[in-house]
Amino acid sequence: MILGEDIKRARQALISGGLVAIPTETVYGLAANGLESSAVAKIFKAKNRPNYDPLILHIGSIAQAELSAEFHEDAKNLAAAFWPGPLTIILKKTAIVPDIVTSGLDTVGVRMPNHKLTQKLLESLEFPLAAPSANPFGYVSPTTAQHVADQLGDQVDFILDGGPCQVGLESTIVDMSHSSYEILRQGGIPNEAIFKVLGEIPVREESSSNPKAPGMLENHYAPTAELVVGDISQLIEKYTEKRIAVLGFQSTYGKEGIALSPSGNLEEAARNLFAALRALDRGNYDLILSEWMPNTGLGKAINDKLKRASRKD
Ligand code: AMP
Ligand code: MG
Repeated sequence: MILGEDIKRARQALISGGLVAIPTETVYGLAANGLESSAVAKIFKAKNRPNYDPLILHIGSIAQAELSAEFHEDAKNLAAAFWPGPLTIILKKTAIVPDIVTSGLDTVGVRMPNHKLTQKLLESLEFPLAAPSANPFGYVSPTTAQHVADQLGDQVDFILDGGPCQVGLESTIVDMSHSSYEILRQGGIPNEAIFKVLGEIPVREESSSNPKAPGMLENHYAPTAELVVGDISQLIEKYTEKRIAVLGFQSTYGKEGIALSPSGNLEEAARNLFAALRALDRGNYDLILSEWMPNTGLGKAINDKLKRASRKD
């Protein structure tokens, strides 16, 4: 296999136990050798991530996934439908997966990302890559190499620039580790698409202090500026004195701000969401007002992120 110079650098850093930011179709990941505890520990340190929040193992082949997880028939069917793609499957782990990856759980999340550079990188390695999103814990996920450089540039050995992420939302997480399957986190694959393969399964909505899917934490994905979500015209009337930006679906209602998809396309809105939150965060606004997206397809996952990023009052 002929590897480009940038993939060679990423590979070398990972083999030496270093941290590399990798492009995927969902968001940029902060990757390390997933079978090497000391390398994985650097991820938690760089992100300031609590150790109870487990990481996802990124794999380049089904064979590699089978070394890390107990793949059963249903899991193989689901993987066949969506891999490579924005789907993480939670399964019983095998003994080679260090506890630090799974936060001591006997289950592990595995995913085959759909990005050419990262696929080549994974195929060139003899270990899976443990990688959460490449952002400081709790902040908005990064969808460009620049987002990673802005916040974690001095913490990583190399950033593999694969351009802007094409999906722009984190992976959908499906727990298949026991007999009752469940969607733990809504993400880049709409719930309905999962139901078509598995039948209708529950979608975890609530959060707790020690959640099974910490993507479920409240106040996650949050910009520093305050965000309020609701009916824009009502919110504009309510918050007259403040410097306000509007995060709209198709328009900004004549105010400053960003429309996620003027043509009304939910895939485009998803792709633009995190970059828009970051841009508005840099704009020195007192308040960001957002409307709910149409609650169908990826709109549900976007609304879930907005809910978690918004002020609780
Ligand atoms: P991030 O990529 O930053 O969204 O982080 C990975 C997410 O995967 C975690 O926050 C968890 O929600 C989820 N995850 C990883 N492993 C497991 C597991 N064994 N059980 C449940 N959720 C998991
Ligand atoms: Mg994350």
